[in-house]
Amino acid sequence: MSQVRVRFAPSPTGYLHVGGARTALFNWLYARHHGGKFILRIEDTDRSRSTDEAIEQILESMRWLGLDWDELYRQTDRFDVHRRAAEELLRKGAAYEHEGAVWFRIPRTGVTVVEDLLLGRVEFKNSELKDLVILRSDGTPTYNFACVVDDSDMGMTHVIRGDDHLNNTPKQILIYRALGREPPKFAHLPMILGPDKTKLSKRHGAVSVLEYRRRGFLPEALVNFFARLGWSHGDQEIFSREELVELFDLSGVGKSAAVFDEQKLLWINHEWLKRADLPRLARLLADYIVQEGIATPEEVGQLGEGRLLRAAELLRERNKTLVSMAQAARFLFPRELPWPEEARRYLKPELAEPLEKIAASLSACSGFSPEEVEQAVRGGLAELNLPLKAVAQPIRVAITGRTVSPGLFDVISLVGQEQAVSRLRRAAALCRSSETN
Ligand code: GLU
Repeated sequence: MSQVRVRFAPSPTGYLHVGGARTALFNWLYARHHGGKFILRIEDTDRSRSTDEAIEQILESMRWLGLDWDELYRQTDRFDVHRRAAEELLRKGAAYEHEGAVWFRIPRTGVTVVEDLLLGRVEFKNSELKDLVILRSDGTPTYNFACVVDDSDMGMTHVIRGDDHLNNTPKQILIYRALGREPPKFAHLPMILGPDKTKLSKRHGAVSVLEYRRRGFLPEALVNFFARLGWSHGDQEIFSREELVELFDLSGVGKSAAVFDEQKLLWINHEWLKRADLPRLARLLADYIVQEGIATPEEVGQLGEGRLLRAAELLRERNKTLVSMAQAARFLFPRELPWPEEARRYLKPELAEPLEKIAASLSACSGFSPEEVEQAVRGGLAELNLPLKAVAQPIRVAITGRTVSPGLFDVISLVGQEQAVSRLRRAAALCRSSETN
């Protein structure tokens, strides 16, 4: 077989969404698996709806997902080619002019068969298809026509796209034949449904690829998740990009609709956060801390690399996105923490003394590693004859402002001596004041 050539052909009328990204990924994987070429073709012939901003967003989304292309085309650069092909059809009598537009003539009888690689044989009665405009009166080509001319000129061996295009395929096959050209092989991917089994839409939280980036998802997690929308390999869920390239083929694509499940996406993202290279994760955490307005770039810089690395390592255990890691990192910065109501509940009058005591033992520490912190805390508690359990949660709240955090001694060590002591004292004062209230 000749070298595989496949394409992703987005219309730049909006952002790259889940459905488009899945189509792009499947084509990219197919090309990479077979050692072929992946072509990106911007279908911007509908000038009134296409924008440069959308093109830039699509390219940026593809780059971020790591879906590199071998060739890039813009359909508007090829209007002359489309016009010449339309003239050829006019000459052959396969097209006619009407009200300034050029129309393709659909045969009145017979059937057109789509031999789909996924769906099998699908027959369309020509009598149920309608003649279609191929050049608008302003001379611009329509989708079905430009798509055929370009797929054919660009040597596509396979057209892999969503099954919402299945109804276009017989028309496209008829155009290929009228032009005397060989159609590529077609594979129509199953639909993507929301958890309520209706067609996926924004209602289901399905947003643009770049919005997922903003929400703190890793590109490798999205690639893994999109791959599983319609494709499977046994019951494996976690796939690296390299594994996908090795394993992906159309034989693994199912016929039934795929269901988009955001909980699963969160789970997959968490798995990839846990696997991420730590220096990279620390850099990302720094970016999201700034993005979320938790701290300024200067403040993040002042943390120092060691603390940022340690924070990333600890926070990825319990957080499923970079945004939630960034929010959980608020306690790292040297300012007064907002103590939410559910955290304040732990600061009871009888805790004032133990918290003071622990603050005192921590302020006497000469080093502040988690081990040294543990020793100081346990030493203080022994003098008071209190178990750690009695104060662990109040200390956590005092230090992090939250009721859930990484290990207690880790977080105390991470905020540093000065902040730890001052936060414990402030918490003790709050305990006292709740006594007088
Ligand atoms: N521009 C079309 C779309 O975005 C491409 C469809 C196709 O792949 O042929 O839906």
